[in-house]
Amino acid sequence: MNHTTIKVLCPIALMAASCAPSSATGKLPPLASEAEIDSAEKAPVIGIAHEAGWNAPSEPFTVAGNIHYVGTKAVSSWLITTPKGHILIGGVIAQSAPQIIANIERLGFSIRDVRHLLNSHAHYDHAGGLAGLKQASGGTMIASAADKPYLEAGAIDHGPSAGMRFPPVRVDRVIGDGDRVSLGGTTMIAHLTPGHSPGCTSWSMEFKWKNSEHRKAFFHCSSTVAGQSLTPEAYPGMVAAFRSTFAKVRAIKVDLFLANHDNFFDLDAKRLRQISGDPEAFFDPHELQRFNAELERAFEEDLARQQAKLKMNPATR
Ligand SMILES: [Zn+2]
Repeated sequence: MNHTTIKVLCPIALMAASCAPSSATGKLPPLASEAEIDSAEKAPVIGIAHEAGWNAPSEPFTVAGNIHYVGTKAVSSWLITTPKGHILIGGVIAQSAPQIIANIERLGFSIRDVRHLLNSHAHYDHAGGLAGLKQASGGTMIASAADKPYLEAGAIDHGPSAGMRFPPVRVDRVIGDGDRVSLGGTTMIAHLTPGHSPGCTSWSMEFKWKNSEHRKAFFHCSSTVAGQSLTPEAYPGMVAAFRSTFAKVRAIKVDLFLANHDNFFDLDAKRLRQISGDPEAFFDPHELQRFNAELERAFEEDLARQQAKLKMNPATR
């Protein structure tokens, strides 16, 4: 994709001089060059990303209120529209940025009106497209302190995703637990839910439904172990982080549970019900709790299995 019409770029050769990052002006060039982003977007989709349909095309649609799905077949990207510009959550893989931009346009909106980019966590299947989407929108990248280094490095340093590089993206604003991102009458609240990654961030928001009634949506970061080592921990404090996240999410009540992979929230089945005429196909006030309980059970089983294995073969410690 050609991003040359967007003027936030600096030629890489100039970055050491006049285009050097300047925190005083806030005008910071992107960390990945235009050429790097272009080449990442055009690279073939291989391995698990191909098999799982992470870049397979998907029809964009409105979930409810001002919440729209603009992601791929198997990885979510959410567009939250407001009269003052939009918020985008999730960049999918690097090759997905052109598709996400096209999906936004198919719904009648423009990537150029995206003011803020949010993300669940810094794994390549959710962060890979962010550099291209930031470049195309000129929006600010907002993320947690714990995942910021990974987004800016374009890689995570532990677990099965280690070594899966993606175009690095600069984080313009760091958020903490309970921090708010407000735009055009919509407020996104950050919920730090570490475990799956050290800075895993879920987001919640209220939206208008049936004129005056307000409903609450939750964009879950994920609490799967996903093949990461719990014994020893892939990163310090990982087991405690998972457990505190399960406890925290137990206290959250929402009408709409949305997640970052289609199979986590039965996207296809709900979309079919919606097309068949059910405007509340995505509403389920108990789904977040069911999901949280299921993931907590799976986590404790995984931990017990890994601990048992370690006892059998302490040499692997
Ligand atoms: Zn992940």
